[in-house]
Amino acid sequence: MTTKAPERHEFQAEVKQVLDIVVHSLYTDKEIFVRELVSNASDATEKLRHNQVAEKDADIFDADLDLEIQVSSDEEAGEITIRDFGIGMTRDELIENLGTIAHSGSKAFLNALKESGERNDNLIGQFGVGFYSVFMVADSVKVYTRSWKKEGECYCWSSDGSGAYEIEEVEGERRGTRIVISLKDEYKDFAKKDRIEEIIKKYSAFVQFPVKVDGEKL
Ligand code: ADP
Ligand code: MG
Repeated sequence: MTTKAPERHEFQAEVKQVLDIVVHSLYTDKEIFVRELVSNASDATEKLRHNQVAEKDADIFDADLDLEIQVSSDEEAGEITIRDFGIGMTRDELIENLGTIAHSGSKAFLNALKESGERNDNLIGQFGVGFYSVFMVADSVKVYTRSWKKEGECYCWSSDGSGAYEIEEVEGERRGTRIVISLKDEYKDFAKKDRIEEIIKKYSAFVQFPVKVDGEKL
């Protein structure tokens, strides 16, 4: 087995711009990161379900996994994990999707920001900056992922939300994506079971897959 060293990548300039604003936003409701990550988990699961209809089971990695979203928290460690069994990401997709501004939400945000000509915290809530919103509350984020494609490897993408991220090949992930959020000291309360349950209840009502918190369906 070859172990490859982690590779460091700079975020695209536009992503750095979004991150800088998101991380320093004072007024945005911090809990929206849960909504954004659960909605990404749901999108990825929906795409997998679509592939299940379009492809043969034999072409899908881990074809028998239940399509549910699992949230767990570790109050002592100040960590939240959000996991899906959706399409996952290849190495190239990680770089494209989490390292550039290619995707819809953050792009609309940046355009609106340019038009308004000033730092405007309301825009974050209005446009939803998607994945990057997690850096409002996290001092480190690890994204473990394994694509649905039969041939493939597992990766861990990690970042502290400043200028760069790392990608490392890992072993043994199931299909889909597992995001481990290490909360900043001042936001550790989000890892309390009651708190995360309350937020999930609020945002998961419209998710078409079961969302479980610590193994229990809400
Ligand atoms: P948006 O959801 O508007 O496209 P996000 O910033 O929320 O933007 O996510 C960026 C991209 O990262 C998504 O479009 C998707 O391709 C990828 N992504 C994020 N989370 C996941 C996930 N859980 N599984 C697979 N892909 C994901
Ligand atoms: Mg999204």
